[in-house]
Amino acid sequence: MKPLPKEFDILAIERRWQKLWEDWGIYRFDWNDYSRPTFSIDTPPPYPSGEFHMGNVLNWTYFDIVARYKRMRGYNVFFPQGWDCHGLGIEVQVEREHNIRKRDLPPDKFRSLCMQLVEKYIAMMKEGIIRLGCSVDWTTEYRTMNPDYWRRTQLSFIILYKKGYIYQGTHPVNWCPRCETAIADAEVDYGEREGKLHYIRFPLEGGGGHLLIATTRPEFIPACVAVAVNPVDTRYNQYIGKRIKVPLVNRSVEIIQDDAVDPSFGTGVVMICTYGDKEDVRTVKRHNLPVITILTENGLINENGGKYEGLTVEEAKKAIVEDLKAAGLLEKIETIRQEIGVCNRCETPIEILERKQWFMKTRILTDRVEKEAHEIVWYPDYMKYRLIDWARSLDWDWVISRQRVFATPIPIWYCKSCGETIVADESWVPIDPKLEKPRIEACPKCRCRDFIPETDVLDTWMDSSITCAVHAGWPDRQDWRRLFPADLHPSGVDIIRTWAYYLMVRHLALFDEKPYKSCLINGMVLGADGRKMSKSLKNYVATPEVLEKHGADAARQWAAAGGATGSDIPFRWPDVEYGRRFLTKLWNAARFVSTQLQDYKPSGEHKFELQLLDRWILSKAEKLTGRVSEAFEKCQFNIAVEEVRNFAWHVFCDQYIEAVKDRLYKPELYGEAKRKAAQHTLYTVLYRIIQLLAPITPHITEEIYQHMYAEHVGKKSIHITPWPEADPAKIDEEAEKAGDLLAALIAEIRRDKAEKRKPLNASIKLVRVYAENAEHAKIIEKNREDVAGTCKISKLEVLPQKSEGEGRQVPQYPELSFTAQYD
Ligand SMILES: [Zn+2]
Ligand SMILES: [Zn+2]
Repeated sequence: MKPLPKEFDILAIERRWQKLWEDWGIYRFDWNDYSRPTFSIDTPPPYPSGEFHMGNVLNWTYFDIVARYKRMRGYNVFFPQGWDCHGLGIEVQVEREHNIRKRDLPPDKFRSLCMQLVEKYIAMMKEGIIRLGCSVDWTTEYRTMNPDYWRRTQLSFIILYKKGYIYQGTHPVNWCPRCETAIADAEVDYGEREGKLHYIRFPLEGGGGHLLIATTRPEFIPACVAVAVNPVDTRYNQYIGKRIKVPLVNRSVEIIQDDAVDPSFGTGVVMICTYGDKEDVRTVKRHNLPVITILTENGLINENGGKYEGLTVEEAKKAIVEDLKAAGLLEKIETIRQEIGVCNRCETPIEILERKQWFMKTRILTDRVEKEAHEIVWYPDYMKYRLIDWARSLDWDWVISRQRVFATPIPIWYCKSCGETIVADESWVPIDPKLEKPRIEACPKCRCRDFIPETDVLDTWMDSSITCAVHAGWPDRQDWRRLFPADLHPSGVDIIRTWAYYLMVRHLALFDEKPYKSCLINGMVLGADGRKMSKSLKNYVATPEVLEKHGADAARQWAAAGGATGSDIPFRWPDVEYGRRFLTKLWNAARFVSTQLQDYKPSGEHKFELQLLDRWILSKAEKLTGRVSEAFEKCQFNIAVEEVRNFAWHVFCDQYIEAVKDRLYKPELYGEAKRKAAQHTLYTVLYRIIQLLAPITPHITEEIYQHMYAEHVGKKSIHITPWPEADPAKIDEEAEKAGDLLAALIAEIRRDKAEKRKPLNASIKLVRVYAENAEHAKIIEKNREDVAGTCKISKLEVLPQKSEGEGRQVPQYPELSFTAQYD
């Protein structure tokens, strides 16, 4: 065996292996292999933002560890990678970059600008995934913006339509006036802002004074359809059923009673407008009130706003407040904190608008979602409640249509004369109804031959919420159920309400089956200051900076070790630097071992006599294997990485290697069979360490494997070697007990040397060990060569008695102490 080179350029090593792995194709799923069990990962296709940020690093490290572990466990691992291209985010970005709005360009031009941007962003993110060393099967790569993927999205739409899950209806929806599209509940972010509470006098009809109404949205006065009070509020219940005049507009509305009115908010009298907020939607529905729409789709006041027509919401608010003041109807204005919803792509406050939309019936699935959530294995378990609580909180069905351009077309036409809805046949997809007519002669109802295409498009979540089936090969592969449901769905804690939820309802509706068997959740990455990492907070760290400075194996250790699975993890440079130092320590240890193994043949033809410390560390390595395997099985990556690092650094390097050096260097003193035993132990334990580490630090372990083990083991890569089973027969409790004692004594003698400022290789004239416990004395006596050799002791005396006076006590062994005399 040749010694490892002293030169150790981790960045170059990582690059080289990333390329070779791909050239060798060792991470490809073998579709023709029916002998091994399969393990499929529902890799989330990321939304191309152009940045593979540290949150992605955390997420991808988690499931790449699982993929690598399962592969070594003998599974035929399916680890696909796609890109969730469509959506508002890219459109907003294109509008900003080119300083245009979507309607300034023909749709196909706008769409091609979006595709260019997406390709640029994908290239950047793909580089990040490769650079992190993820064992993705790149032959599976797909893009949801390609017609071949549309086909699947459209097919799923048609199936759900036929099953009655999809309907068209006029319901209030969240509307972004800037993006000019409906958005789903999951796309609304809520935040606190300062608002103004206006106290406005509404005159009672027929005289008798007025009621004071407090509202943050006076601009909605033209859309006021009722005034409501709580029936238990004795200040107002005598007015219930009477009529009241709406200021500035020449009409009156009824004063109604409603339990939902909070008597302690404002004055306890509220105006119901269509629609000032979600509560209005509920009230209008309960009381069957009329709807007066006053907003256009781009957020301007429409003709129902009378003299305020054409103003923006903000302008209308100002004008109405001025008019109220002039009319003497504004009593006062108070500043309050209020929670408002904003578009999560452009941060514009959302409005509620009624417009014909396509919906998917999702609320009828809520009980089923809850049931399945309990059957799925969650890492960690409590995360299932995020899914259940979200499903339970939804007021509305999922609005799946969008009034945008860059998205999958809805495969629908309408008959020009009778309005009949024509849904594409399953065999027509992919199809864009704006470019193609339906493939029928005439309208089945009225025989008209002219059709109007649906111009709305699908929510991007309609693309990405069928990945479990699509990854498995649906609908093209006969055997797609072989990989369905996915074994593992990984998700960030922040997207359980979207990704995990939409996947669940889509697949339940389509196939009546849950889409994934387990769910692996990662927390958020925090800045070093403990706050959410963000560019504006100046605690932001860019991924390329981390990877270029310390490499992927160090960054992956940070991700794995940072905290319990599911918890938020701060990014701290010292954690990455520690990971880097560990790699150097491991490399140096492997290099030392390789220099000592030049005459060693792993085939087992050497005669060797295992010594106590050999048996001690071999036994510890077996127990370690058991603990690390269990941690990987439970997705407890922090436990796995700390176990191996501590063992490698403190047990293997600091204790074992130091203790056997003398035996390796002086066979004439110890005998060849004992040197061979040390060689065998070094070879075996180092291999165990790099195998257990391989899922976490794939590059350095591969490099060491290729230099030292590949030839003998016979597998092309460490990542396809079989995972070591903890062998109970190799566990030797007695050797561990005795070895711990020796290791503690040696460590304490070395500490004594260090404290006396002697170099570690300095010799000690005399060490007198006092072992009150006869058992201890026997162990030390039997292994005196190791103790004396490791600590360079010229004369070692072992006395089975209490120390006389000032002996140095060995920690954790109160009956053991020693004195040392230096030259
Ligand atoms: Zn928006
Ligand atoms: Zn017709």
